[in-house]
Amino acid sequence: MLVARPAFRPALVRGLALQALRAGPRAAGAVEAWWPVTRVAVLAKPFGHHRWSSTKTTVGEAVLCNKSDTVVLSVPHSDEMRFPFVWLRDNCQCSVCFHTDSRSRTIDVQTFDINSKPTEVKVSRDTVHIIWLDGHVSDFNINWLKEHSFQKEAQQMWLKSMYRLPRKTWTAQSFEDILTRFQFSDVLKSDESLYNWLVNLATFGVSIIENAPAESSTIRNLAERVAFIRRTHYGEEFSVRAKPGTTNVAYLSANLQLHTDLPYYNYKPGANLLHCLVQTESDGGSNLLTDTLAVAEWIKRVDANSYQVLTQTIVDWNDIGQEDGNHFHSIHRAPVISENRFGEIERINFSQPQRDSHFNIPVEDVKPWYQAMDKFIKAVYSNDFCVTYKMKEGEVLTFDNIRLLHGRRKYEDTGNVVRHVIGGYLDWDEIWSRIRVLKKEIHPSD
Ligand SMILES: [Zn+2]
Repeated sequence: MLVARPAFRPALVRGLALQALRAGPRAAGAVEAWWPVTRVAVLAKPFGHHRWSSTKTTVGEAVLCNKSDTVVLSVPHSDEMRFPFVWLRDNCQCSVCFHTDSRSRTIDVQTFDINSKPTEVKVSRDTVHIIWLDGHVSDFNINWLKEHSFQKEAQQMWLKSMYRLPRKTWTAQSFEDILTRFQFSDVLKSDESLYNWLVNLATFGVSIIENAPAESSTIRNLAERVAFIRRTHYGEEFSVRAKPGTTNVAYLSANLQLHTDLPYYNYKPGANLLHCLVQTESDGGSNLLTDTLAVAEWIKRVDANSYQVLTQTIVDWNDIGQEDGNHFHSIHRAPVISENRFGEIERINFSQPQRDSHFNIPVEDVKPWYQAMDKFIKAVYSNDFCVTYKMKEGEVLTFDNIRLLHGRRKYEDTGNVVRHVIGGYLDWDEIWSRIRVLKKEIHPSD
């Protein structure tokens, strides 16, 4: 049916799709003969130094620009979009190149021609049709193309709505305003509540779930409502109780300094869930929390040099010990403030007890690092940034272990009241995945 045409024949192809428009939009990927209702008039006409073929309808116009190797698509209410030939060929949605059920590209990467060129482009109804030099045919739904546009604004919007939601920082002063409480039973039963909790956790890095059952399975049930519990060398759920002869300082009743959990893991657990089963009757036992993203941004603003030292100096984090007879020795090397390649703060690493005495940096860099750390420590413990929160029995404190520092004030167990918190972790990969799936279900048009 389709014949390969000579390459880059100067042509201006216009098609009217009124009949098609009246027929209404067509689902992307629907099997349909080529522009069955659109009759295309072909006019040979050179257009400047470009070689064009195009078709114009009320839904849009597509032209080939062989100078830039792109298809230029114009649709109403949108800026002109350019799609590189190579990208279009690579992202062909036909059943040979793409497996719809698994939403996976199946085009053979070894035989793929990065210099593939179209000979014709046509717009018919809501579809851009491309005929390639070798006769292959690709149909692209216009909305699909808009969603995958290379326009910077569209890309930013997608990244902020689908990849990572924007984070909002908080200080001690704004903590009460941002702290949101969710009902355990709602989160377990309602997808909307689950979604709202996870979005809140992603945005602010801390949320409370209240009225959780006083059962040891609560953390597992909550974690499994999201995805699955993250296992570490301390196990899946961990009980935080004063434990004589412990190998971890968290299991003492003394002050627990501000830290992130497991900075010595390359793949550090993402979010911490702490379920308070029994709270101490003594004055102590409050948790300390600091939004270290806020601190890092503040240091960057007021002391660029310290910020640079904290983001550039590689620190050795380690943990040696045993849990239930299993010996472990974990090491991860990373700065206190880890940035990604875009200069965004990606991960905070800090734990005073689990910072190795091996410090594999040039000797002259040691003192400057301690000076920068001194500023960091003063800030994370300051009344400007650090809050205390004493969990009530039945509450689950959930927070971002990549972003917040947490600690605990010392306490004393009295009589039969033994403070008991059960913790567990979730990974951000799983949380983000759950947020995206729920978002499509609850807010499909966003
Ligand atoms: Zn194809």
